[in-house]
Amino acid sequence: MSKGKAARVQGTHSHGPLPACVEGFTRLQHSVTQIIDGSTLIGAADSQAAIEQPCEDTVLPSVVALQEDDLTLAQPEAETSVPVSAFAAFGLRRELLDGLAAIGFEEPSPIQKAAIPELMLGRDLVGQAQTGTGKTAAFGLPLLERLDAGQRTPQVLVLTPTRELAMQVAEAFNSYAACMKGVKVLPIYGGADFRDQIQHLRRGVQIVVGTPGRVMDHMRQGTLDLSGLRSLVLDEADEMLRMGFIDDVKWVLEQLPAERQVVLFSATMPSEIRRISQNYLKDPAEVTIRQKAADGRRIRQRHLVVNGPQKLEALERVLEAEGSEGVIIFARTKAITLTVAESLEQHGYDVAVLNGDVPQTQRERTIERLRDGRVNVLVATDVAARGLDVDRIGLVINYDIPFDGEAYVHRIGRTGRAGRSGEAILFLTPRERRFLGGLERAVNQPIEAMEVPGNASINQHRLDRLRQKLTTILQQPVCNPEERALLAEILQRVAQEQSCSPDQLALAALELGLGGKPLLLQGEERWGQSRPGAATRERDRDRGDRERGGDRRPFNDRTQERGEDGPEDNMERFRIEVGWRDRVKPGNIVGAIANESGLAGRSIGKIRIFDAHSTVDLPKGMPDDVFADLRRLRVMNKELQISRLGS
Ligand code: AMP
Repeated sequence: MSKGKAARVQGTHSHGPLPACVEGFTRLQHSVTQIIDGSTLIGAADSQAAIEQPCEDTVLPSVVALQEDDLTLAQPEAETSVPVSAFAAFGLRRELLDGLAAIGFEEPSPIQKAAIPELMLGRDLVGQAQTGTGKTAAFGLPLLERLDAGQRTPQVLVLTPTRELAMQVAEAFNSYAACMKGVKVLPIYGGADFRDQIQHLRRGVQIVVGTPGRVMDHMRQGTLDLSGLRSLVLDEADEMLRMGFIDDVKWVLEQLPAERQVVLFSATMPSEIRRISQNYLKDPAEVTIRQKAADGRRIRQRHLVVNGPQKLEALERVLEAEGSEGVIIFARTKAITLTVAESLEQHGYDVAVLNGDVPQTQRERTIERLRDGRVNVLVATDVAARGLDVDRIGLVINYDIPFDGEAYVHRIGRTGRAGRSGEAILFLTPRERRFLGGLERAVNQPIEAMEVPGNASINQHRLDRLRQKLTTILQQPVCNPEERALLAEILQRVAQEQSCSPDQLALAALELGLGGKPLLLQGEERWGQSRPGAATRERDRDRGDRERGGDRRPFNDRTQERGEDGPEDNMERFRIEVGWRDRVKPGNIVGAIANESGLAGRSIGKIRIFDAHSTVDLPKGMPDDVFADLRRLRVMNKELQISRLGS
């Protein structure tokens, strides 16, 4: 199939029934004019956008093409016509525009505006952008546009650090290409059936999205033929570096045909990634998308480190000392939402729960109660709180760490709405501290450290709140005038009977208001210092960090020196036959195991690296087939030969 622009435009002049296209025309006229006027489309700003008239008997949405030598301005609007998105101005084929309309993409995001025109020209590109910016469509759409559905061997290969991302990217390709005929997308990653993947590859796929290890396996076996490859995308390149895949990526790059397009996306640009771009990309276009800092800055973000068993108590302290008029607490599971809500209810909070078990009607009532202040604290899971829009939320607490930066950004975005400022506090267990950097990158700003509030600050907060309540009630009494008259009568009678002063009377009334609860917490100590062993553990941890040069190495390989032993309760210890001698690093082990077994990196426990072998703690109950796959898995070119320790 010819990929020339003229050929593409002619190709759209089909005569079939095209209701969507007919509908699409008005908006086409509208949006294209808008783009030319507003120069919002990078690359088309120089008036290179050309609009062709549809042929007489059909009205076509994808007749907008970027052309160097031809400028035709918009014709008067057709009478019956329907909107088409601003994506039309990129010159994408009609089937792609229909696919985008079906998933509701109307306006290209900044990364899409910047990258699509470059990639349509076949240029290499280095993009610095995070997940959530729309980078998948930024490379997916132009690569689909340039695809030759007649060629049955892979034309596009996308390498991703994790299988989750591979699946996500493959799904995105499928959704963009939903209206294109004959496009086959195959995700290939460790842990999935190898033979099944081979069969799909044999039947013919144009787009392969995979993790480096499994892609290399197929390449070595000759089951993935990349001789016809046109484009390689390295998605989340810095994550691939962090997970120890960078040599694999280089190896793949070296096997590719000399004439190919390489696209590299990365949230950050460590020197190693820069070097790859210098060595393997040809005169790449560079696109950097900075997260809009303004939004994030309205939200003050802090984190605190707390051991799992102390989380509930820490939460109560944070709420006491920091609690504002509306609070959302994010927990990872339905069960945790219930535990947290019950505990807070016992402490007198007006709490509601929003999780996947809450039916839609009740969910709406809950949000209404949160909005009007009858409920002050909402405990929710991510899914249940998606899109929740309540202005009076002043504090978001990430009781459990979110799965990724995108989820974190969504969660904290529940506060700081409608131009207000907001607070966000993230709870991390000591082991979860290693994820902080990733979240900071996602919001492009540091997430400050804070302490679990100690007694002194809680007491101060209690006094402030009491004074505030008293002032409010003086200004806006809750009782009606008759009730107030009755209360005044009681005061007078007690004063006479007890011969007490108005001050004494007021104090007694305030104490009554405390409802028998002590006004202050006793003791001046910081939280955590009173619990046996806590301070020592903290000191040990700090020393450990210093010994490691203060870096955030993801896995602790010094546990033996610290005298800890044995896996945690829910974990099992395994031996793998790769060690210092093979120059293996914890990141290599985590990356390989995570991809092959499907475990999230964070559920992989302690790793100790010895001279010729290492040990790794993994969750109990590993299925036999995963175990078998892990035995054969290669890290640093050696089979892991994983075995259970003690077996
Ligand atoms: P990504 O950064 O590619 O993971 O995209 C983040 C999210 O934004 C995904 O849910 C996409 O489906 C969505 N998205 C990407 N581009 C657009 C767009 N132009 N309009 C609406 N949603 C989009």
